[in-house]
Amino acid sequence: MVDDSRHLISVDLASNEFQGAVVNLRGQIMSRFSVPLDGCNGEAALKLVYEVIDRLLEKAGAPVLGIGIGSPGLMDPIQGIVRYSVNLDWRDLPLAGYLKERYKLPVHVANNSQVAALAETTFGANRRVPNLIVVKMGVGIAAGIVLNGQPYYGDGFGAGEIGHLVVKENGDLCRCGHYGCLETLASSRAVLKQAQKSITQNPDSILAGLAGNSSNVTLEMILKACQEGDRPTLDLIDEVGRYMGIAMAGLVCAYNIQQIVVAGIMAGFGQTLIDAIQRHIKQHALSSLVEKTHIETSKLEKDIVILGVAALLMQRELGLT
Ligand SMILES: [Zn+2]
Repeated sequence: MVDDSRHLISVDLASNEFQGAVVNLRGQIMSRFSVPLDGCNGEAALKLVYEVIDRLLEKAGAPVLGIGIGSPGLMDPIQGIVRYSVNLDWRDLPLAGYLKERYKLPVHVANNSQVAALAETTFGANRRVPNLIVVKMGVGIAAGIVLNGQPYYGDGFGAGEIGHLVVKENGDLCRCGHYGCLETLASSRAVLKQAQKSITQNPDSILAGLAGNSSNVTLEMILKACQEGDRPTLDLIDEVGRYMGIAMAGLVCAYNIQQIVVAGIMAGFGQTLIDAIQRHIKQHALSSLVEKTHIETSKLEKDIVILGVAALLMQRELGLT
């Protein structure tokens, strides 16, 4: 029987808003509070974190076991330090220290994709699966790796940072300064850009009909066009699958992990995307490794980071997983 008498405060520092929730020990979300980021960073972003936690503590209906933060970027979960967050312009920020001082509660911080993998093995469809990879595909792309039930961070806390792996020589310039990174080819932003090109090149496509003007195109329209069998749009998703397949083949070869879960906004493309990735992984890795690779989309959807943070708190504070 799981102890349900305590609550956890989980915050997901997502790219456009800070999403917080009060979570119980069963992984049920009891209440939520979010604030839009509106492009703020540095000290102002830190104040927003305080605001979210203040409000969540008011909403908690039981004693609070601890506070957890999931963020993109390089996070040191051992010392609770944000090593580098591009989006928030934080470098070597002792976030856990600040929060412990302010709230007098245990605090844990970790990378959002790394905790997403823990959410999947704690509360998702892959409970108690010892080894698993979650690939989070949104504005950024990163993987989280669970090995023997524990999140694997890597020597410099960057394990799974595949978004800036170069998968296309002489590709487009990436925000990191390199050309042809996975993010320039398979992130939600990249897909929107490709869709705009596709509309211009295929003015009679279903997608062009849905969007009218190419600048109006949304991910929902791209998904609808796929469901209606629009060839140029299906080709576009196949290209995404190709580059994801190359990067994920690397993970499969390095770790020989058979269970892979795709999360993030791009997981909305469901089986169309999974089939494309599956096809291309097969072409880029040893068949004896790949034939047992199982890829699926996460059922935890937008709560995967919040639940991952909750799972990390339970693991660290209660020894539960
Ligand atoms: Zn890059």
